[in-house]
Amino acid sequence: MTVGVRAPGGHRALPVLGSALTPLALRDAAVPGVPHDPRREAVSALGQHFMQASKPRTPHVHLLAGENGEGHLFLPDGSRLFDADAPLLYVMQQTIEQSIGAPVDANAVPALLERLGVTAAPYVNDEPVASPPLHALSLAVAQKCNLGCTYCYAQQGEFGGPATQMSAEQALRAVDLMIDAAEPGARLNLAFMGGEPLVNRPVLRLATEHAVRRAETRGVHVNFSITTNGTLVTPDDGEFFETHGFAVTISLDGPREVHDAQRPTRSGRGSFDRIMRNIAPLLTTQRRMQVTARVTVTPENLGLRETLDTFVDLGFHSVGFAPMLSSPNGHGEMQSADLQVMLGEMIDCGREYERRILRGGRYPFSNVVNAMREIHRGTHRPYPCGAGAGYLGVSADGELSACHRFVGDEAGRMGSIDGGIDRTLQNRWLADRHVHTQSPCTSCWARYLCGGGCHHEVIARGRPACDYVRGWLHYCLGAYLRLSPHLDQVMASTPVQLS
Ligand code: SF4
Ligand code: SF4
Repeated sequence: MTVGVRAPGGHRALPVLGSALTPLALRDAAVPGVPHDPRREAVSALGQHFMQASKPRTPHVHLLAGENGEGHLFLPDGSRLFDADAPLLYVMQQTIEQSIGAPVDANAVPALLERLGVTAAPYVNDEPVASPPLHALSLAVAQKCNLGCTYCYAQQGEFGGPATQMSAEQALRAVDLMIDAAEPGARLNLAFMGGEPLVNRPVLRLATEHAVRRAETRGVHVNFSITTNGTLVTPDDGEFFETHGFAVTISLDGPREVHDAQRPTRSGRGSFDRIMRNIAPLLTTQRRMQVTARVTVTPENLGLRETLDTFVDLGFHSVGFAPMLSSPNGHGEMQSADLQVMLGEMIDCGREYERRILRGGRYPFSNVVNAMREIHRGTHRPYPCGAGAGYLGVSADGELSACHRFVGDEAGRMGSIDGGIDRTLQNRWLADRHVHTQSPCTSCWARYLCGGGCHHEVIARGRPACDYVRGWLHYCLGAYLRLSPHLDQVMASTPVQLS
């Protein structure tokens, strides 16, 4: 019975887990009274399979079964992967099964891991991060928007208040807040969000140019990003973004009909054609700038593979998906059956990524690219993101919040540009939000890759997507193992920041 360390970057050929690379088979099983959609049924069954396989059984280890009885152990602590031969996998499985609901055997799994010599001092302790340095800021330069998206978290950009936009003075002071406090050599990020940030183009440009000047004199580096609905983008914007190396994220929810149903103008007209016309020059000229499509997934646009292929063919640098888990009006929120279908679709896209990598190609599906990187570097984090830590949002009137989604929300208040970061509020947030304080995260094997789920969604709706999250990570761990002979190629894919 042996265990072998799977060191990051290891290149030994590994067994293929199941026949996971075969194209999605379509089941032909009609349900009386329900429109027959074989593809939907097939992806749903696939999602269900991965949700079942990834159910949390013990917080100490997660098993990945391969062919012929052998497989792998994933240790959440340090997010470490180990090869396991068939006898070890069998014993581990038995030990886990016997320890479930049997308090007397509660230590059996840790004891076995100890005997195998794979335990270590905890990689993540209970200490919350305290008063971290600020390295990323998002400016809600315009709390207003020209679209009327059906599910908008920002309530058409106004966050439940009156439409407003940031003054130049406020934006420059926000930039100074971040740059003044940075250590020389620091890498910072300035993001523009809304509403629709291009409604307030002059302030966006002033803030960018101010940040460039201030960064130079202070010896820091600032990256820029913008999330835009694309309806107001001009060729001149494209040149500006290219000059400053912006990461440009365009919110697009699918091919034309699908997108237009979810993201109409306020008068109810479609926005897809206009967006594509506007961003065509950006797609062809992107060099320093990277143009990404971000798809918000609702029960109405679950055809992820078609969407991904459409946007890849259109020349996007990458494409990423995020499920709609909480919206102010409940519209478009994903339920468990939808998440099961989405998981199947994500895996179908992931398998295509694997096929392309094996053929020496690329497939810029950012969810899987980013997951490969996180697994490779053994990410183990006590929080899902930097919100309220190194990352803060700034409202149009200069209030600081945990992130762009907490603008105007008491739950994520963090001070103001005038008074600075409220360290008491921030440290309380960081203590309260640590994954070790979250339920049921402490009993979940995925806790240090997941970090406990988006704070905003958890506070608004709880944790309805855990089976989806674990199913996706289970798939990605398998994909990482299958692709380990090709890790140089996998790691060469550019990661993309989506929030
Ligand atoms: S939020 Fe993440 S860590 Fe917490 S239980 Fe759900 S999947 Fe696990
Ligand atoms: S994951 Fe959620 S809490 Fe974190 S930055 Fe994104 S929206 Fe904010």
